[in-house]
Amino acid sequence: MNRNRQTGSIEISGAGPAGLAAALAIAHGGGRACVHERRDDVGTRFHGDFQGLENWTRKTDVLAELQTVGIAADFEHTPINQVICYGPNGEIERKVHSQLPLFYLVRRGSEPGTLDCSLKQQALAAGVDIRFGETLRNLPAGGIVTEGPHRADAIAAGYLFETDMENGAWAIVSEQLAPGGYAYLLVCNGRATLASCLFRDFHNEKRYLQRSADFFSERLGVQLNNPRRFGGTGNFALPKSARKRNILYAGEAAGFQDPLFGFGIRFAIVSGAAAGRAQLSGDLEQYESFWKHRLRDYHKTAAVNRWFYERLGNRGYNRLLKHYPEGWDIRERMQRSYAPRLWKRIWYHLTVARHHTPLLNPRADCDCTWCRCSSSTRPSGA
Ligand SMILES: Cc1cc2nc3c(=O)[nH]c(=O)nc-3n(C[C@H](O)[C@H](O)[C@H](O)COP(=O)(O)OP(=O)(O)OC[C@H]3O[C@@H](n4cnc5c(N)ncnc54)[C@H](O)[C@@H]3O)c2cc1C
Repeated sequence: MNRNRQTGSIEISGAGPAGLAAALAIAHGGGRACVHERRDDVGTRFHGDFQGLENWTRKTDVLAELQTVGIAADFEHTPINQVICYGPNGEIERKVHSQLPLFYLVRRGSEPGTLDCSLKQQALAAGVDIRFGETLRNLPAGGIVTEGPHRADAIAAGYLFETDMENGAWAIVSEQLAPGGYAYLLVCNGRATLASCLFRDFHNEKRYLQRSADFFSERLGVQLNNPRRFGGTGNFALPKSARKRNILYAGEAAGFQDPLFGFGIRFAIVSGAAAGRAQLSGDLEQYESFWKHRLRDYHKTAAVNRWFYERLGNRGYNRLLKHYPEGWDIRERMQRSYAPRLWKRIWYHLTVARHHTPLLNPRADCDCTWCRCSSSTRPSGA
């Protein structure tokens, strides 16, 4: 029995992309879904900031993939085929482009047009019961946990602002601006998101964000009109099992996120929909095989890619960009670098998995949310 005895609904905890995708899969399959969201609306973790719906891990276009799980792309989405990348000191500049969209720019938050608002509207139209202001502590009858990250393997800190700049996407790789990660600027129709995405030294996020803002101001003349701060954490610790008895974990609650660059929306939606289908059919092992087949190998290769990326440092970033051939189709190259390979699997087990230590450096007295010391609160099944 995996349903609420009184309502006959499959219970879902968290109305992010994973939870709403799960609910939609259940509703489209003829079942009843009840989503409990602790906040008073969807997308409150975000504030209208731009995120990239990645389109490079698979040949299939991500929007087509969403359609196959019953999600219509009726949210604002702008294809991005080119990113201008800078080396650590800004001297090297490369246009990295692809024929097909590398990602789609989407807005996150509660406003109309955002991905979150669109998923909510689609779920409500399909008859999903969404209960806002309800924090689920447990799921005695089973269900799906899609509560987002419970700890930080990476963090992003940034500004949203208005601008009259032309649309575009820019990124810089630099240990001084974003240790182990990258800083980025995304502009679309008068709105902009500028952020530093760090994989280390989280306690100095303000300093890295300031340096990133200074870089883009000096380099591109960016002016931050009516800036608003935003930030958040990302979790990409791969679970051994995403099932605990009759509870399934999906999205970032299960650590399903690209460990190389911290992109999680696609994995959240795909895993959420699969968890919904499995709960509806009652065959929960189907979900275990699904994510192990569809997500685990990508995750492992991305973790190996990160292992190498972490070792590049500023000199390596410089060399990488310097020798980057302008004619390359970056989407094809990325797809190849994410494709599961035997040597990467071996490398993963010999190095990444064996030496998997927290990627951050908590201070002894630290009790902040950035740190993995909070990992003890994580559901033990995931
Ligand atoms: C600043 C930032 C930038 C990012 N940029 C990108 C990007 O460009 N591209 C990309 O693909 N990914 C990006 N990500 C990651 C992406 O946002 C997440 O991977 C994705 O939102 C995960 O979806 P989810 O449904 O698993 O979790 P979430 O979106 O976190 O949703 C979880 C929901 O559960 C609710 N909740 C939590 N606990 C409970 C509870 N006990 N009971 C009820 N409700 C609960 C929360 O309020 C929340 O609404 C970014 C993340 C951050 C923080």
